[in-house]
Amino acid sequence: MKNILLLGATGSIGDSVLKVVRQNKDSLNLYGIAAGKNSTKVEEIIKSFSPLNIFIDDEDACKVVSSRFPSKNIFNSEDELLNLIQASEVDIVISAIVGFAGLKTSMMAVNAGKTVLIANKESVVAAGELLMSAANLSGAKIIPIDSEHNAIFQCLPIGQSTESVNKIIITASGGPFLDIPLSKLSDMPPEAALKHPKWNMGSKISIDSATLVNKCLELIEARYLFNLNEKFFDLVIHPQSIIHSVVTYIDGSSIAQMSNPNMEVPIANALGEECRIPIKYEPLNFADLELTFKEFPKDRFQLESLAREICNMGGSSGLVFNAANEIAVESFLSKHISFCDIYEVIYRTFDSISLSKPSDIETLNELNKEARMEAHKVIKSLT
Ligand code: NAD
Ligand code: MG
Repeated sequence: MKNILLLGATGSIGDSVLKVVRQNKDSLNLYGIAAGKNSTKVEEIIKSFSPLNIFIDDEDACKVVSSRFPSKNIFNSEDELLNLIQASEVDIVISAIVGFAGLKTSMMAVNAGKTVLIANKESVVAAGELLMSAANLSGAKIIPIDSEHNAIFQCLPIGQSTESVNKIIITASGGPFLDIPLSKLSDMPPEAALKHPKWNMGSKISIDSATLVNKCLELIEARYLFNLNEKFFDLVIHPQSIIHSVVTYIDGSSIAQMSNPNMEVPIANALGEECRIPIKYEPLNFADLELTFKEFPKDRFQLESLAREICNMGGSSGLVFNAANEIAVESFLSKHISFCDIYEVIYRTFDSISLSKPSDIETLNELNKEARMEAHKVIKSLT
């Protein structure tokens, strides 16, 4: 039996993890959860899965849930969360908190030498160098959940020599605005940007998919997870979202991972580790499959080249890119800036912050605050 600690349990990834756990109750046990403030959902999870340990970031929500389940260990203290992450009973930590807020716990789990299933791409983008070197030191095993990275992982396990790799294709559905040129997107409201044609996800990643910033975050994420130069990675649009990534080897073989778009598939793969575990899935109907591919849109060239520059620069560059994007997305969702302003906030924030090589998480936190403040300044100048 594997004991799982699910961080970000009430979100979209949390939902998918719980579906996989429910189908594998004889081998997977939900030992603990962490959530932001959704007390109703936390209560549903407690009733269905009976986790022993529950962290709730919001103090009031924590009090409400504690009073209903007096026999459970329900807490709001970060120190206690750290103890839980380090507990010897915990076999697998799933990092599915959204945004930079997930970095602290991702880092704690890696430092504790756990098997860490990473959905929280922002922590890898902002602190890839620190996370990967901490994993080397502690022996933590990092397994990606992001569908493209899990696909690469299935075709090229992390730790396997990359000498024989020639190219890796990261596919992108293209999001809801695939066929609309950037010049026509400025008046797009959040409601339209949130309607992803293939995936049902949290609001932040849905906007990232609409801007294609998600693919740039994923390029940076892949660069760190697989320790390869950005030149190895191509970003290719694949609207059907059936092939999640492709690894081409020097002998001309291309190995792809395929499934219908459903996050339970990469999650089941990651939770199974070396073994395959069963889930109910919609099989691919190969006779009817029509798979198409096209270049990453040329009007997003500036965005892609910035992401590639970040892969090469390292240091705090990913953190600044991520912070500017997080603030811009928040601001777009609350209708303070337009869709196209998201790009402006990223570019201008990036241009006005001097980059450095942070060597610890405290410095990263300071730099994150600074970058977010700068992004707010840029937004003020735009509105
Ligand atoms: P979501 O908004 O649906 O859920 C976020 C979760 O984080 C919620 O449980 C929320 O309560 C929790 N949370 C937020 N702040 C917290 C805090 N300070 N302390 C504790 N919990 C906190 O987001 P999501 O779509 O599930 O995405 C989660 C992460 O996975 C993101 O980094 C995203 O990029 C990544 N990801 C998501 C998908 C997807 O299909 N949704 C696919 C690939 C990667
Ligand atoms: Mg993805």
